[in-house]
Amino acid sequence: MSLSKTDYDIIVAGGGLAGLIVASSAAYYSNQRLKILVVDRNSIEIQGRKTISGWICGDAVGKNTVDYMTERIKIAWGQPEIEHPVKGVVAFSPDHETKVSFDGEGYILNRKQLPQKQIREANKLGVETMSNIVVRQLITDNNYVVGIEGENSNTKEIFKKTAKVVVDCTGVTSVLRTNLPIKSFIQRRIDRNDLEATGRYIYDFDNEGVEDKTFFDPDYCIIHLDQNLAPGGYGWVFPKGKNKVNIGLGVQQRLFDKANKKIGKKRDLKKLIDEYVNLNPAISNPRLSTGEEDIGNEWGTWQVSVRRQNDCMVANGYMMVGDSAWMPKPLDAGGIGPAIIAATIAGKDLVQAIESNDVSESGLWSYNKNFINEYGYKTAGLEVFRRMLQQLDNEQINYGMKHFLSKMDVEKITNGEHPEFSTVSKLGMMIRGALNKKLAEDLKFTSKMNEELVTHYRNYPEGPEGFPEWSSKLNKYLTEAFARFSS
Ligand SMILES: Cc1cc2nc3c(=O)[nH]c(=O)nc-3n(C[C@H](O)[C@H](O)[C@H](O)COP(=O)(O)OP(=O)(O)OC[C@H]3O[C@@H](n4cnc5c(N)ncnc54)[C@H](O)[C@@H]3O)c2cc1C
Repeated sequence: MSLSKTDYDIIVAGGGLAGLIVASSAAYYSNQRLKILVVDRNSIEIQGRKTISGWICGDAVGKNTVDYMTERIKIAWGQPEIEHPVKGVVAFSPDHETKVSFDGEGYILNRKQLPQKQIREANKLGVETMSNIVVRQLITDNNYVVGIEGENSNTKEIFKKTAKVVVDCTGVTSVLRTNLPIKSFIQRRIDRNDLEATGRYIYDFDNEGVEDKTFFDPDYCIIHLDQNLAPGGYGWVFPKGKNKVNIGLGVQQRLFDKANKKIGKKRDLKKLIDEYVNLNPAISNPRLSTGEEDIGNEWGTWQVSVRRQNDCMVANGYMMVGDSAWMPKPLDAGGIGPAIIAATIAGKDLVQAIESNDVSESGLWSYNKNFINEYGYKTAGLEVFRRMLQQLDNEQINYGMKHFLSKMDVEKITNGEHPEFSTVSKLGMMIRGALNKKLAEDLKFTSKMNEELVTHYRNYPEGPEGFPEWSSKLNKYLTEAFARFSS
């Protein structure tokens, strides 16, 4: 197929958080020269909805990443899509004795309202948006992706359009990635242990009961680390106002099954979340939010990936942005920040590739490189760290947070980086207990492994030719690290 005859320059499949930013960014950087279409399976009033039960998310994002977008493509978010500002995130140890504050200022978004704002911004930039289009597969020609095929869920008509590049923003369950029909370095499938099962409520509540800022704080997002409450994950209490909260948790299914077995119970995720809410003394009389802005979004579960981003995110005529590329941060499953960064970058790189008439894997490669330089360089190290944390018990987490985290480590975490744990080496013989000594050794290992991985990612190949060698070296590092934390 000749590229000059396509219906569009760019088709973005999935008009959620990432998709609408990619489209706006490409429109911005091309001065609206390109013909861009965004399709979503939802109707416009429910744009961006992830699943039948809603826009399931913790809704928290760092101000720095929103600023990143605003500075570059001049899109600013305000009310009502920003529902509540916060001063930072505080993580509590299982015994609530140690708290670690990190991440700086941020926002709690309203994910139902945000896409409405995003559509208006995209349309203003000349982007065309179509609703009720369920994308089922990619159209290919001569080992290139050249379009999408699906169905209009209203009319049941077949929908088929071609483009120079298809950007896959259909989220974590992307069938386009899983069934990618051309030769590519993209990893199609995710290991199920790299997915967290998560769920949350949006509740109004009375707070005249106990005031305990380890359980609710209108100014801070609270994270509870606790292997009993949230095996292999964590619980969160994110304020949406003085009497409104996004409260939920995520678990690794394998560890959850193991925990259930240990206590001889068959709790499901909802039961676990209900227990977590009931245990919270600061949230009394919780009831599902009745605000118009939350209707259809008060409760739900969904999944989120906690691995490094896909090792390669482009193929001939195709690229992935956001959850379809497994971008959420391995440590906390924060996917909005990396999606904003990646989408902003992708728009710019797409324009360059299209305007230089090279939408091959090679022509789109700069997006891999630029995202890794900006953000992705740290995710493999954080994935190793996440695996290490998942195998700890509560006593070890209590001990580790109390004794092993220096001020510098917290600063590193604040910047989204892997901590160095330099205190651990200094403590040496003073560390009490065999398990804690093992923990100290593991922390030193992850810290060293992280350094090597960051260096390796800083040497991400300039083009596809260098990828096989780079990837094989990456896998050597990861095989060693994963073997150590495989329990
Ligand atoms: C419970 C939970 C809590 C979370 N908490 C946070 C948090 O507090 N902070 C944070 O940063 N991140 C959080 N995340 C992650 C964050 O929500 C995601 O990273 C983010 O939504 C990714 O955006 P996206 O646009 O890539 O994908 P999505 O938001 O999943 O959007 C995908 C879009 O594609 C459309 N689509 C899908 N399939 C098709 C198809 N076949 N045809 C047409 N359209 C399709 C959907 O309708 C949707 O509009 C959380 C995730 C979960 C599940």
